[in-house]
Amino acid sequence: MINYDQIFNNALKDLRQEGRYRTFNNITRKKGEFPKAVYNNQFGIKSDVTIWCSNDYLGMGQNSSVVDAFVNAVNLVGAGAGGTRNISGTSNYHVELENELAKFHKKDAALIFTSGYIANECALSTLAKMLPDCIIYSDENNHASMIEGIRKGNSDKFIWKHNDINHLEMLLKKSNPALPKIVAFESVYSMDGDFAPIKEIIDVSKKYNALTYLDEVHGVGLYGKNGGGLAEELNVIEDIDIFEGTLAKGFGLMGGYITAKNNIIDVIRSYAPGFIFTTSLPPSLAAAAIASVRYVKNNHSLREALYERANKLKKLMLKKNLPIIQNNSHIVPLLVKDPARCKEISDILLNNYSIYVQPINYPTVPKGSERLRFTPTPLHDDSKIEFLVNSLDAIWNELKLSRAA
Ligand SMILES: *Cc1c(COP(=O)(O)O)cnc(C)c1O
Repeated sequence: MINYDQIFNNALKDLRQEGRYRTFNNITRKKGEFPKAVYNNQFGIKSDVTIWCSNDYLGMGQNSSVVDAFVNAVNLVGAGAGGTRNISGTSNYHVELENELAKFHKKDAALIFTSGYIANECALSTLAKMLPDCIIYSDENNHASMIEGIRKGNSDKFIWKHNDINHLEMLLKKSNPALPKIVAFESVYSMDGDFAPIKEIIDVSKKYNALTYLDEVHGVGLYGKNGGGLAEELNVIEDIDIFEGTLAKGFGLMGGYITAKNNIIDVIRSYAPGFIFTTSLPPSLAAAAIASVRYVKNNHSLREALYERANKLKKLMLKKNLPIIQNNSHIVPLLVKDPARCKEISDILLNNYSIYVQPINYPTVPKGSERLRFTPTPLHDDSKIEFLVNSLDAIWNELKLSRAA
């Protein structure tokens, strides 16, 4: 007899023993008060906390033009989409959002998905299946959703060392020049906050006639004069064949998308099961996303405020010799290098200082590089930044943790 309970319980026990069992903190945001929120602990006791680890990088999830667009659309067309895109689930809002996103990235067309994860999985697996004997070259730090898409596409693949252009070229060079190729990478890697050498990757990809697939999930809304991402900032939008983005981070909502030339979008629209056989996003969400994209595009001051806040936080942390990973992005990773310590610091911050930052442990980051990942937003004011840095300094003293060299 198969003991089903034992199998499931053992799998969970393994995670607990490795210190990798996940518990979710119950953090309820309050409209108009972000980054403040209410923490509901395991005893049901509520307290105010400041969120320091949200991917709502610009606070757009609570922006009044976005919330109003959401509510207005719900009042006009109701809550759900009513079907898949093909069977009664396409509305004016979906069409308009895709037009807006295509324009935003200066491409022919766009396609929206229920998440950025699904967008990556569908786009990469479908492209790999469409192109006969395709080879995919994937940066070793690529997000799980790209890895899963590549795996499902079942094509040949090579993993290139993170941001190592010479390694990428070596792999491209030794491949059959007659075969179709895709180079898949991210613009901003979210755990270290480092940038890809986008221009160099484009050059070498063109040299070997490969398509470029760029995940701009941590770039859209945040970089470039119009918020079009790091590729826009570097003036290389035209040289990227396929962009993938999310509506869930810089735009503060939910949903994912790709943009590219017409025939690529049409092929994925027509062949990707994860696009075809699922109910489309609620029209109200699409309406809110249109408002968010337009707002973010037209308010460059939001981006300037984000960089200024991130630089301020980095500067104050460095002044205390706190061991941050230095980068040029809006992300501030603070190294702890031990999973139990990392969780302990996070607990102390939450319980003694009302600061919420989730510990980032294996497998999200390699073992030995456990960290706290801070994401300041334009709404984290001076007093919040100073309080955070002083609290960390006190904890570093108390636990005798190592400082930056
Ligand atoms: C978060 C993330 C995704 C997935 O986006 P969702 O819209 O949250 O599903 C894809 N790629 C990268 C690099 C991400 O960090």
